Amino acid sequence: PLAQAYAGHQFGHAARLGDGRAVLLGEQLTPDHKRVDIQLKGAGRTPFSRGGDGRAALAPMLREYLISEALHALGVPCTRILAVVKTGEQVLREEPLPGAIAVRVAASHLRVGTFQYAAWHEDNSLLPALLNYAIARHYPELNSTSNPALAFLQAVMQAQIALVVHWQRVGFVHGVLNTDNVTISAEAIDFGPCAFMEQYDEATVFSSIDRRGRYAFGAQPSITLWNLSRLAEALLPVIDPNPEQAVHLATQVLEGFNPAFNRAWLAMMRGKLGLLSEQPQDAQLVEDWLAQLQQAQLDYTNAHLQLMSLDLPNEAAWQRPELKAWHARWRVRVGNDRPQALTLMSQHNPWVIPRNHLVEQALNSAQEQGDMQPFHALLKELQTPYLLRDLAQKYCTPARSHERVTQTFCGT
Ligand code: AMP
Ligand code: MG
Repeated sequence: PLAQAYAGHQFGHAARLGDGRAVLLGEQLTPDHKRVDIQLKGAGRTPFSRGGDGRAALAPMLREYLISEALHALGVPCTRILAVVKTGEQVLREEPLPGAIAVRVAASHLRVGTFQYAAWHEDNSLLPALLNYAIARHYPELNSTSNPALAFLQAVMQAQIALVVHWQRVGFVHGVLNTDNVTISAEAIDFGPCAFMEQYDEATVFSSIDRRGRYAFGAQPSITLWNLSRLAEALLPVIDPNPEQAVHLATQVLEGFNPAFNRAWLAMMRGKLGLLSEQPQDAQLVEDWLAQLQQAQLDYTNAHLQLMSLDLPNEAAWQRPELKAWHARWRVRVGNDRPQALTLMSQHNPWVIPRNHLVEQALNSAQEQGDMQPFHALLKELQTPYLLRDLAQKYCTPARSHERVTQTFCGT
């Protein structure tokens, strides 16, 4: 077993870190020839634990399980939890809590922060070695390119764009997009204070420690570019021996982020709105839709499902003149392609997301009463998110005001 060193920017501040409560057991080749890392999280102290005990409490580990299974079923690339095992020990947080270990499976645990660690290390053979390893493991096709380091930056950027577009599609707010939580494989990792947005608002933040909204829902694309810029910085010496030329080349790649993200995001939003072709006014139609969602305080998930009835929904919120006018515009845009539009929408719009109040209830029952029933019931629903449901069903209903969970904690 080993604990990995990494570095990273946490809320913008550089730090040398490492697996403070995780140990890597090794790699496994799956029957379909995929190589995965198997890691224990919460297994005890490591050389990187600093002041911590290296342990984890049950509820946060079950949370990782639930959220990663939900993301996986939603079609979002992510690390997964194979099992959560109670240790039988108590861990001391603000109060004693039941301890647990999560068994994590990941394409690898290489992060942007792993490259920052190598770049900051006095031994400058580390960076090329890490790059070769990462390319061989995740992007072997890049070996034959003229500048593998630059091609690697481009490939990680494309993969991260695909990941974040998925998050924006399903309303996922990661909550701690520090560079040590951004993987090279572009699988989502570390589900601490993350949560799914209910009412649409770009400024949505759940994490108790994200006081300035650095990792708000609407900030995820720009913070991903920021994180990729840190990867680019780390890669400079292997991009070109001439520092100016290296900066020039890396900047060219990063300048492609916004156009590529916007293209991918618009294509995704077309899917959510059932637009089969590309038309120049689509960007405006989408923007106006999101503005209406925000003003009418509609649930991001359910509003898209309600559109699928094609007729204007009866609810009071939909009777606002601006929203009615938007709906009429949208109907004209969808035109006569309705069956295909509905098929497209049903592939982009989930019926069930892990709503925070239900997640909280499931974890509290598990941790406080030892009752796993709500957890398993929720998990079962989350495994088939695109299956048509009754919107009045418990798992589809947004939190009522007294149930609303507005703040989440990383549980470390
Ligand atoms: P994680 O949510 O596991 O990514 O935790 C964030 C950072 O804090 C990582 O660098 C962890 O290694 C460290 N950390 C979290 N919890 C503990 C703990 N109980 N003991 C030691 N280090 C921890
Ligand atoms: Mg982490």
